[in-house]
Amino acid sequence: MTTSTQADHHRCVRCTLPATHPGADLDAQGFCAFCRNNALPEAQQNAFDSEDALAEALAPFKHAGKKYDVVVPLSGGVDSSFALIRIVEKFGLRALAFHNDHGFEDSVATANVRKLCASLDVDLVLWQHDIGFMKALWRHLNTSPVLGLSGCYLCGNIIYLNALAIAESFGVPLVINGYTKGQAGIVNQRERGLDLFAQFLKHAKHDREFTEELLEKYRVLERRRDYSSPEDFAAGPTDKILVVPFFLFKFYKTDKELLQAECRRRFDWQPMATSYPARTTNCKMIWLNTYVDIKKTGSSIYDEEYASLVRAGEMSRDQAISDLEHNPPPGLVESLAQAIDLDLDTVPGEFDVRRR
Ligand SMILES: [Zn+2]
Repeated sequence: MTTSTQADHHRCVRCTLPATHPGADLDAQGFCAFCRNNALPEAQQNAFDSEDALAEALAPFKHAGKKYDVVVPLSGGVDSSFALIRIVEKFGLRALAFHNDHGFEDSVATANVRKLCASLDVDLVLWQHDIGFMKALWRHLNTSPVLGLSGCYLCGNIIYLNALAIAESFGVPLVINGYTKGQAGIVNQRERGLDLFAQFLKHAKHDREFTEELLEKYRVLERRRDYSSPEDFAAGPTDKILVVPFFLFKFYKTDKELLQAECRRRFDWQPMATSYPARTTNCKMIWLNTYVDIKKTGSSIYDEEYASLVRAGEMSRDQAISDLEHNPPPGLVESLAQAIDLDLDTVPGEFDVRRR
């Protein structure tokens, strides 16, 4: 199977965002709306001069939890692995690691997580359930006509909520997420996310058991507060769980080669045989979710993530285009669709969706 990809489409001349991406709005010179109004939260990125200053600011959270000070979700990739290394070695926080396996996780990724936690002597929660629920989630998402709501986006939300639920049950006041700067930007677009989520609930409402379980998972959001400024650290722990995106701070770069070298200095980090985008450590379902997103809209959530990495100066435009090439291993998209009971012919194409 070949996916007629975003490579065929027109992209922003600066950041690679495809013209088909909702809100891209390329102008006559070929620049997208995001490049015209640079939307990076610069004040937050520059809040600390150095890693030392950040480590010092986090002091009120040392020994603030019962047994652990911070929950750190790990994918097995270099970004979140590096985050955990710095949190333990530089911040001196007592970390509880968390790895989410919803049934399609690659064993290489899970092995990386185990090796990392063993090398740092960090306790690990391996969350290996929810498989039936997650299959329903991807099936409903990949047949839904809601544009711009990717299976990976909502799955990412579920992992975020699971991390909060673990922090809540262990009495931990802090979650530090090690996703890339591009992912952090997407997660922070709350309003857009809420609107799409409401449309999705309408689409899936015939599956009562699924929608009730989904809404129950969101209950823990009441316990969250987002990091907004250094005062959140200074004020110390509250009854809410503070969530901080690790790569928000300017001195942390998400250069994969550098991070890989840092990881390999401490443990036997291994790359996955195939992954999408290239050089990442994402779960297999990403191939199917991306196939569907490209079919529906001509672009995927990863185009958006990588465009923001290019805008932030974290990656070159050529590297982004090369990493984003979507060539699934033969038969994989079909076998993933079968595993979640999805008939690929029922996935709405771009034309069907836009006609509604
Ligand atoms: Zn752009």
